[in-house]
Amino acid sequence: MTLTDYRQKRDFNQSPEPEGKVVKDSCKLVFVVQRHKASRLHYDFRLEMEGVLKSWAIPKGPSLNPADKRLALRVEDHPYEYKDFEGVIPAGNYGAGIVENWDHGHYTDSENSGKDTEIKLLQALKAGHLKIILHGKKLKGEFALVKLKAKKDNAWLLIKHKDSYAVQENYDSEADTPKNSPINQWLSKSNQNKNP
Ligand code: MN
Repeated sequence: MTLTDYRQKRDFNQSPEPEGKVVKDSCKLVFVVQRHKASRLHYDFRLEMEGVLKSWAIPKGPSLNPADKRLALRVEDHPYEYKDFEGVIPAGNYGAGIVENWDHGHYTDSENSGKDTEIKLLQALKAGHLKIILHGKKLKGEFALVKLKAKKDNAWLLIKHKDSYAVQENYDSEADTPKNSPINQWLSKSNQNKNP
């Protein structure tokens, strides 16, 4: 059961996060990037495979600049419905803080298509080298997710490939976030409460 870790870490009587029933409503594979203000602000990158969301936490957020190699720490699989989750995870719960959708869309395998795609993707995940094409609002084009062999076994890198969607200038995912996003509003409210 691939969601065991996810469920063990959470109390669904307290957290509004989905428990996970693996319901799929489209034949396309989805991806989502959630901006998550927990003890630290980070970005959660999730790719649908075998009915769940394979997940990585990216401390610095994704980049469209191929020169950036963004550390992506593999975390527990999340349920498919998590792609739509936004909201506050109450204090005292795993990942307490607030989650917002930063980007979403569907994705394809750069090298395979057709009915074996998911099997090939799972093999590539196991081998530690995924090549995917993201069709999001912010993230577009080809990316690689590469497992670091020398490091802890959850350390990967997310790297943009050179294509027409790549940028050469500095890319900052924070600057690509609306000033009035739910997290930014929540942060400015909690700052006001601290400094009346
Ligand atoms: Mn997170």
